[in-house]
Amino acid sequence: MCQKQLCGGGSATKKGSCFHVVCKWRAQFLKAKMGANHFRFSNVSRLGTHRHRIEDPVQPSFLCSQSLGNCLIMSQPVAQEILTELESLRLIDPHTHINPLAAASETLADVMGYHYYTELAHSAGLSRDQIEEPGISPKEKVGRLVPWLASMENTVQYSWLLEMCQTFFGFCDERITESNWETLYDASLAKMQSPNWEQQVLEQSGLDQVYLTNDFDDPLTGFDTAFYVPCLRTDDLVFHLGKPEVRERLQKCTDVNLDDSASMKDALAKLFAHFTENNARACAISLPPNFAPRAVPASTVDTLVGKVFSGTELTESELESLSCFVFWSLAELCAEHKLPFDLMIGVNRRVFEAGVFQGQDLYDKRVSLIQYKELLNAFPQVTFPISVLSETSNQELVSYSWIFPNVVTNGHWWYSNIPVFIENHTRARLQAVPKTKQIGYYSDMYKLEFALPKFAMYRRILAKTLAQDFVVDRGWSVEKSVELGKLVLRGNVEAIFGPV
Ligand SMILES: [Zn+2]
Repeated sequence: MCQKQLCGGGSATKKGSCFHVVCKWRAQFLKAKMGANHFRFSNVSRLGTHRHRIEDPVQPSFLCSQSLGNCLIMSQPVAQEILTELESLRLIDPHTHINPLAAASETLADVMGYHYYTELAHSAGLSRDQIEEPGISPKEKVGRLVPWLASMENTVQYSWLLEMCQTFFGFCDERITESNWETLYDASLAKMQSPNWEQQVLEQSGLDQVYLTNDFDDPLTGFDTAFYVPCLRTDDLVFHLGKPEVRERLQKCTDVNLDDSASMKDALAKLFAHFTENNARACAISLPPNFAPRAVPASTVDTLVGKVFSGTELTESELESLSCFVFWSLAELCAEHKLPFDLMIGVNRRVFEAGVFQGQDLYDKRVSLIQYKELLNAFPQVTFPISVLSETSNQELVSYSWIFPNVVTNGHWWYSNIPVFIENHTRARLQAVPKTKQIGYYSDMYKLEFALPKFAMYRRILAKTLAQDFVVDRGWSVEKSVELGKLVLRGNVEAIFGPV
C-alpha cells in the first residue's frame, strides 16, 4: 500500500493523539504492508497476551475510524489481491435448475420472472394476479414489475439484476426505472437473440460445468451430459408416491410392476442405472423440517407399496414409513454407485399459500441435524453434501462436518444466499471444518445469466473473509489464502463429485 492510499481516508487528527490496539499479527501485517516508518510500536503486554500499541504519526484517524477487530481498511487491498486471483479461476456450478434444452434467457422476462423478483415485488405491494396473469407478453410482465424495483433497490437480489444488465446487456444507468426500462428491454432482446447467446453467457461467466436437477423420469437426452451434468432429484419418490401421477411416471419409466418392497427397490435401482450411465454425479433431495430418516423393515413396507400402487390412500404414519423406506433405499443405492447424496434440509412447503409461484416456502429453525443421526452413522461410505437455511442449522452443520467424515458443507442455500449469512457461514466453516470438506458455492439458478452475479457476490465475500481472517488475523500469506479459496470454490467440487 502506498502512502497516498494510506493517507487517503479519514480526517486529520493531531499527531500522536490517537492509537489503536491490535494483535501482533495485525501489527506485523501493517508493518509489512505499509512500512515500519509509518508506525511506532510499543509493547503493552498484559494478561499474558502479547499486544502492541500502535501510534500512527502520519494519519492517526486512519486507524481510529475503524472499530477494534474490524480492520476493514487494512484488509481491503489484500482482499482485492485475493479477489483478482479468484476471478481468474474457471467455475463448476454444482447445483442449478437449468433446463439444458433452454439454458439461457430469451427475454428480460426470463430474468425478472425469477422468483426472487416476483416475491419481492409481491411483498412490496404488487398483486399476484398482476404478476401471474395468464397470457401476458414477456414485455408486459417486465413492464409491470419495473415500477416496483425502486422499493427493492436496496436488496442484494436487485444488485444481481443490475450486474447482469450491466455485464451482459451494456446497461449504463444507475437504476432501472420506468423511463429507461424499454431501452434496456430492447437492447437485451437483441443480445439474447444473437447467435450462440448461451455460449456467450457461459464464456463470460467462466463456467466449465453446470450441474442440473433432473426429475427421476428425465430421459437425459438432447444435451451434452459432460457439460450439463445430470443429478437425480428424488423429492417426488420420497414424499409424493401418494399422488397418482407420480406413481404412473415411476411405473412408466422403469417398466416395473410395483407391488411390494422388492419391486420398489428394483424400480429405484433402474433409475440409478439410467442416471449413472448418463454421467450423473449426485442424488439430491430437499427435506422438510420434521423428516427424520430411519431404516424401515421390508416386511413393513411390502403391504404399503401394494396398497399405494393399487390406489388405496395411505394414512399419515403409513406414508411416513414409505418415505423412510424409499429414502433409505436411495442412500443404499448411493453407496452402491458411489454417488454423493445432496441433502437440502429444513424447508416447509406452502407456508404462504397466497404467495407467488415458488414464493410460498419458508424454513423452520426447529429442524435439527440430530434427526439425521441414524442415517449418517449407517452410511459412512456415502458423502452427504448438506445445505441448510438457518443460522442455527449452519452452526450444527459446522459441528457435524467437523466430527462426521461423511458430512460436507454445501453452499449457501436459498434464504441463506445473502451476503450477511454467507459471510457468517463461510467464516464459521473456514475456521472449524477441514478445508477439503467444504463446497463453497452453487448458484441454484434457473437461467444461465444468474451464475455471473451470484458467484461474483460469493467470491467477493470469500476474498474479504480470507483477507481478514487468514492474512490479517492469522498471518497467512496471500498465496496460501488464495489456495484455500480456490479449493473451496472449485477443487473440492471436483474432488467430491468427480473431475470435469
Ligand atoms: Zn435448488
